[in-house]
Amino acid sequence: MRLFRPSAIVRWLYPEALFRLKTKEKILCLTFDDGPDPGSTPYLLETLERHDIKTVFFCSGKAAEKYPELIDKITSKGHIIGNHGYNHLNGLKTPAGKYCEDVHFASGLTSDKLFRPPYGRLSIRQYNRLRKSYCIVLWDIMPYDFDTGYGMEKSLRTLIRMIRPGSVIVLHDTPASASPEFLREFLDLALSKNYRFGLPDFRR
Ligand SMILES: [Zn+2]
Repeated sequence: MRLFRPSAIVRWLYPEALFRLKTKEKILCLTFDDGPDPGSTPYLLETLERHDIKTVFFCSGKAAEKYPELIDKITSKGHIIGNHGYNHLNGLKTPAGKYCEDVHFASGLTSDKLFRPPYGRLSIRQYNRLRKSYCIVLWDIMPYDFDTGYGMEKSLRTLIRMIRPGSVIVLHDTPASASPEFLREFLDLALSKNYRFGLPDFRR
């Protein structure tokens, strides 16, 4: 089953996590998970630059370590790097101590402020530990851009149908996802509907 929006239970379980920007204006927050990757990051950056849109890249610590020049490029273009863990662990299958260690280890390579749990899966214990150090960013819409079984056109239509003021959107910075082409079409559609793009105010 594809769940495009987190359930009310998830929002209730993680009250301090960010799902939407606090705004009534037509502002969206774009985020990219799982990069950086030389096969996708440069294309995404190029497209974003064309529209002067700033986003958050939730990078895997392991990929950040492998491609430091891409991390520099992302930040030099005015985007924010977020922490997506070092080993992309599933929180529900990993003991809290090991999980938090993995996140803290990745913070030196990515961010010590913003964290997005891989798969959006996090135990309450992990949440309670990590929220003390990080703003935990989940999302309002995940359009399954990585899911070739769903397909880019459907994914794009779903996303356009679901956007609302403040939506945090997850796309993927991987060559296997549809993101580069997807992004161009999505930005054109969203801008034509008078949406703008903003970043979370994550100061704590
Ligand atoms: Zn991920």
